[in-house]
Amino acid sequence: MRRPIIAGNWKMYRTPEEAVKAVQRLGRILGRVRDPEVVVCPPFVALHAVYQVIESGRIRLGAQDMFWEREGAFTGEVSAYMLREVGCSYVIVGHSERRALFGETNETVARKIRAALDFHLTPIVCVGERLQDREGGRTEAVVEDHVSGALGGLDPEELERVVIAYEPVWAIGTGKTATPKQANEVHLFIRNWLKEHHGEAAASGMRILYGGSVKPENVSTLMSQPDIDGALVGGASLDADSFASIVQYKTEKP
Ligand code: PEP
Repeated sequence: MRRPIIAGNWKMYRTPEEAVKAVQRLGRILGRVRDPEVVVCPPFVALHAVYQVIESGRIRLGAQDMFWEREGAFTGEVSAYMLREVGCSYVIVGHSERRALFGETNETVARKIRAALDFHLTPIVCVGERLQDREGGRTEAVVEDHVSGALGGLDPEELERVVIAYEPVWAIGTGKTATPKQANEVHLFIRNWLKEHHGEAAASGMRILYGGSVKPENVSTLMSQPDIDGALVGGASLDADSFASIVQYKTEKP
């Protein structure tokens, strides 16, 4: 059984003070139920303060990006080594906003995954097609390019520590969600690709999250799909009550 994860990507929202208040409220609503695993990804400047609040509870901490070197003359960058020290256990890598706005490529994504694993962070690797790719019938080609570019050099033990987030770019922040069927088709495509290139264990063990306008109203049907193991949530994770409702989705897997 793959343990489900609901992760909140707060993007460039919330100061440390605001982030602490939000996570305190979230913690109060969620209590100590074990599943799903809950991860919040605040901006870098709020990581330390948020960790002080969640340290002994059920919420885990993630960063939204990182650089692959441990330390050095890399002005403005933050390393996996530093993220560990402030309490992170996850890091988002290859988010489509970073690919589109900050020059992230398959090569930089692969280097970041390597460094994240070396420093015992779980990378949440984002893959997904743009609207023009989907309309041009290139969804699978783009997703395969992202997945193979990211995971190519990893051995089976390392693959076990990776999480994939399928995030169709046309569904991010647009209010348009992939239908559960559309999302599951791509998740299954990824799983089949993993089976072909890395074997059955990697395919059946990999947690594949869906991201793209997940809300309290659509999370349960998405989560009822056999190959969807969780959600990466942007906009709706900024409101503690709505994120808590997403975490408390109710569903039966077929
Ligand atoms: C995201 O940024 O990863 C995301 C899925 O955003 P939203 O939920 O707002 O579409």
